[in-house]
Amino acid sequence: MRKLLVANRGEIAVRIARSCREMGIASVFAYDERDDSRFVRRFFDSIVPVASYLDVGAVIDAARKSGADAIHPGYGFLSERAALAAACEDAGIVFIGPKSKSIAAMGSKSESRQLMTRLGVPVVPGYDGEDQSDATLTAEAKKIGLPLLVKASAGGGGKGMKIVRDPAELQRALESARREAMKAFGDDRLLLERYIEEPRHVEVQVFGDSRGEIVHLFERDCSLQRRHQKVVEESPAPNYPETLREKMTKAAVAAARGVDYQNAGTVEFIVTPDGEFYFLEMNTRLQVEHPVTELVTGVDLVRAQIDVASGKPLPWKQSDLRQRGHAIEVRVYAEDPADRFLPQSGRIAVYREPSGPGVRVDSGVMEGTEVGVNFDPMLAKLVCCAESRDAAIDRMDRALRDFIVLGLNNNISWLRRVVTHEEFRAGKVSTRFLAEHENALMATTPEIVPLIAAALASTPRTVKSEPAGVTCVWDALGPWGR
Ligand code: ADP
Repeated sequence: MRKLLVANRGEIAVRIARSCREMGIASVFAYDERDDSRFVRRFFDSIVPVASYLDVGAVIDAARKSGADAIHPGYGFLSERAALAAACEDAGIVFIGPKSKSIAAMGSKSESRQLMTRLGVPVVPGYDGEDQSDATLTAEAKKIGLPLLVKASAGGGGKGMKIVRDPAELQRALESARREAMKAFGDDRLLLERYIEEPRHVEVQVFGDSRGEIVHLFERDCSLQRRHQKVVEESPAPNYPETLREKMTKAAVAAARGVDYQNAGTVEFIVTPDGEFYFLEMNTRLQVEHPVTELVTGVDLVRAQIDVASGKPLPWKQSDLRQRGHAIEVRVYAEDPADRFLPQSGRIAVYREPSGPGVRVDSGVMEGTEVGVNFDPMLAKLVCCAESRDAAIDRMDRALRDFIVLGLNNNISWLRRVVTHEEFRAGKVSTRFLAEHENALMATTPEIVPLIAAALASTPRTVKSEPAGVTCVWDALGPWGR
């Protein structure tokens, strides 16, 4: 492999480009001109335009035009579309990910549930059959009982998911889930699952190579979610019994083996308050939250992805892998927690990332970046690790205080309230956590940073001054603070 094209944007494009540089592989950034990618481009050896990250043909063309012999899809967009992996296989381009047949086998939640059942991996009691008539779905819903979750079989990102608590709501939930699924995925097949109250979301990182070796790299707890979307992730899962960890990692490896899995993948489980776990789905790609695994195990998952895709064996044996210390990741978004978390757009006027021991920032923006409306408004991932969970939380609290983003609303101070909440500190996490503590997590006094941000947002130019000894917001503001 000599030249690798990254068919993605933002922080994940930067993450992959860094590994390429470390490995002596030339990197090409496929950019969408609607995206302000001035920061991302700095990390690449060359760039090539792409009409859309969602168009298989356009991505393959971009690779051909730039002379790339490999494509890394990042996460999202085409990363879980078997068609891109298949097109690469046909074009003789190395796809950094699993074989297209493994992606296809895990592409539908219904089919992957059926496969898991055959493999003896537990799935949430529910209905994943072919018959999609209202009569059958209603009869099956009765068997499962309430509360119930209607899901899009082709789903992702929490779309097309409806909770039903009253039999009278079922029909409406089926209709709106079908509509949403058709719009988002072009496929309106549904499945029904028992809705588990107060569960945890725990997932296992797996990795396979072309020789059939498969290892796991332990778990990540991603229970802190808003609208089924992850916000905070950590490893190890807090207050997690070792027997459960062993059973779950074993089930995850069995799931991966069942689809001849190669490269990095994640097997997601839902865990009931009494410690039962069920398969949710397998994500056949690198996850947003992969850094927490890297920090507790000390591996480089992207480097391993590139090595394994070029036919090399896994760089580690299962017995080499250990969890050491604790890592937590938070997703920093341009959004307004005070106004229903509405995505924000505009220019980043001031941008200061935290640093120091155990602090990692994977970001895709810089001072002056225009955050647009066409793409996900995640600005950066802040990941902190330390020898214990308590110390990692203290470090995250400190790093969030040091993280300054002015010019548009963001969730930094809200994240600080999340990670310093006493229930989070106690490790009492569930997917209901953020909704349950919604009020407590809202700011009670006006915050100074958003006020300054609001003032700065109206300034048309970038703040360029770099005052020495920046220790607080006022210093960082330079001429604007006077
Ligand atoms: P998506 O692919 O859209 O992300 P998932 O099936 O991975 O959908 O589920 C996303 C989240 O929705 C889970 O992490 C969990 O919080 C919640 N969820 C999914 N299935 C259930 C269930 N049966 N009961 C309760 N919550 C669920």
